[in-house]
Amino acid sequence: MATRSFRPSRRGRRPSAQDVDALVREAAEAARARMQGYRERSLAIHGWICAKCAREFDRATLHLLTVHHKDGNHHNNPPDGSNWENLCVDCHDDEHSRGLLGDWLTGRR
Ligand SMILES: [Zn+2]
Ligand SMILES: [Zn+2]
Repeated sequence: MATRSFRPSRRGRRPSAQDVDALVREAAEAARARMQGYRERSLAIHGWICAKCAREFDRATLHLLTVHHKDGNHHNNPPDGSNWENLCVDCHDDEHSRGLLGDWLTGRR
């Protein structure tokens, strides 16, 4: 059998897709900037390690380490880090699928 080139010919990309893309990216960046403050602190206080599975992180993987709010309140950010827990995305997901489902998925703003 001859090899067929598997290149998608036309992907019917709507012009507005780019605008949506930009909007999404903008929102994500704003959320990240807002989050940056306590995330940095939490990482500094608790270290680049998952509090549950003890997985360690470095610069290349650090984006997979997230900050969990123990009481589920993203506005409760005591500077001593007592409401934060550094969790890898897997453990974080797990944490929220147990009951507090929602703040990780929808409460990132
Ligand atoms: Zn983990
Ligand atoms: Zn969380």
